[in-house]
Order: sequence, then C-alpha cells, then structure tokens
Amino acid sequence: MIQRIMKAGFVNIFGKPNAGKSTLLNALLGEKLAITSAKVQTTRHRIKGIITTDDYQLIISDTPGIIEPKYKLHEKMMLAVKEALEDADAAILLHDLTEPDTTATDAVFKKLKLAVPVLVVCNKSDKAGAEKTAAALRFFASQTYCDAAIAVSAISGKGVKELLEKITTLLPEGEPFFPADEVTDLPVRFFVAEMIREKVYELYEEEVPYHTTVLVREFKEKTTLVKIQADIVVQRDTQKGIILGEKGQGIKTLGTAARLEIERFLGRKIFLELFVKVKPKWRDNETHLKEYGYH
Ligand code: GDP
Ligand code: MG
Repeated sequence: MIQRIMKAGFVNIFGKPNAGKSTLLNALLGEKLAITSAKVQTTRHRIKGIITTDDYQLIISDTPGIIEPKYKLHEKMMLAVKEALEDADAAILLHDLTEPDTTATDAVFKKLKLAVPVLVVCNKSDKAGAEKTAAALRFFASQTYCDAAIAVSAISGKGVKELLEKITTLLPEGEPFFPADEVTDLPVRFFVAEMIREKVYELYEEEVPYHTTVLVREFKEKTTLVKIQADIVVQRDTQKGIILGEKGQGIKTLGTAARLEIERFLGRKIFLELFVKVKPKWRDNETHLKEYGYH
C-alpha cells in the first residue's frame, strides 16, 4: 500500500484594505469543489474557509488588524496582526499591483518580521502589465521576509491554482484538523476554545499565550444556559502560576472576559468552568494536539 503524505495547516492572509483579500479568498475557495465555507465574523481569528483534498487540508483566515494606507502604524496594532499571522503555519502577504510601486507595501511587510513561511502574492495582475508584475515579483522574491512570490489575478482566477500549490508546499505534514465532510459549520467548540485563547492573548504577556492552548472538555446545552468546561493547557508550572495569578485573580478575570465573549457569540447565558493543566511540550505532541480538538 502506498502511504500518502497528508499536509494540513492554517494560513492567514494579510493585506491593506482593497488589496483583494476577500476576492482572493473566494477565488481560492472556488478553486476546489470539496470546500467548506464557514463564515464566522464574531471571533478575532476568523476562519473563512477550509479546503480539503486527498492531499491536504488548508484552513484560511484573514487577519484582524486593518491597516489603513496612510495610517501611522502603531506598534501594538502591528503586534496583534503579527500574532495572528504567527498563529498560522504560513502567511500570505498580499500586494496590490495597482499601487504606484512596491515601496508602501514593502514597508508594512518589513515591520511584521514574521517567523513563519511567507508567501508574497502580487494581486491584480490583470491591471498591471507584464513588466510591472515581473518587477514586483523580482523585488519581493529578493526580500528576506519572503519565501516565495507569485502573481495572481484574484478576479479572473489567473494564477490561483498555482498559488494553491505553492501554499501547500509551505504547510506542515499532518492529519486534517477537521473532517473532510464537514461542509457547513465548524464545531462550536472550536470557536469557544478560540475565544478563550483570544482572552489569554489579551490578558497575559510575553511568551505565555504562545505556550497555551485551550481544550473544551464539555459543552452541554441546558434549558436555561450552556455549561462549558475547558482546560487551559500550558507547558510549565510557572506558566500555570501566571495564568492563575495571585489568589486566582488572573483566571477569574480571564473567565469573566471569556464568558462575556462566548455569551455574545452564542447569544445565550453560559456557565464557564476553567481548569489550568500542565502538559510539557504539548505543541510537539501529536496525541495531545489531537486531544485538543484539532482532528
Ligand atoms: P479587501 O479589502 O482586501 O478584502 O479587497 P477586496 O477583495 O474587497 O477587493 C477590493 C477591490 O479590488 C474590489 O473592487 C475588487 O473587485 C478589486 N479586485 C480584487 N482582486 C482584483 C484583481 O485581481 N483584479 C482587479 N482588477 N481587481 C481586483
Ligand atoms: Mg475584504
């Protein structure tokens, strides 16, 4: 029997308003028939779609931070964008070829200093002409933050298939996170976990959020409320201490913030119980990753 190597991962799209993010998402999702399109607007890490084939599963989102073209970039805002991009296995940085040149986009991309593979996509090639397109591709390909550069026309679909192939080369090997036949909704649990994780990002500093994952253990719909039990999984005892905070004040704040967010999302009252668990190296552990809902 031939062993198939499956790839699976999260890809985040970043680009200035009007670069063509939405159009590109649609083009990517339209490329394959076995598509899940889940539009969830309420979470910060919005999953826009899942593409599952026999060879890979690609989960695509766009970034929360909106960068206005002439806006002075605040460090904090860029940090939020950077975090979102680094939550993914690869990042697509979208350049708009109808801009006068690559300078403005390059300045924004440079600030990101991403530690994940970066694919620079030059969009609107239908409007740019061969020479300008080639020059932009050469320019980005020679930048240190860029692993590969490709030109597309999201609107006509030109280059989109090649783009998909390129992205999949950047994905890690692994089993799909979501069932291939799950065509309508993503599990609510997943979003609940994401919302709790989001609060961890907001409330804790430095490396703690990066070492944290959230597993929803129980999700029970009762008549008057939804009962949710979740584990906050960290790698070290010290991190557990930080999450709990002095006299449990940290986890209390986290619990309240997460509860309000989830209640908004579900439109229902919830009862949320959080537990902090230490699992060394959960990030490297396949079994743990599976257990944490990613399958
Ligand atoms: P977003 O703000 O990054 O999500 O950008 P949109 O996807 O909404 O696109 C902004 C505008 O650019 C829309 O008017 C699109 O029709 C247009 N657009 C997007 N992709 C292309 C493209 O490949 N070629 C051309 N000519 N226009 C495009
Ligand atoms: Mg858009």
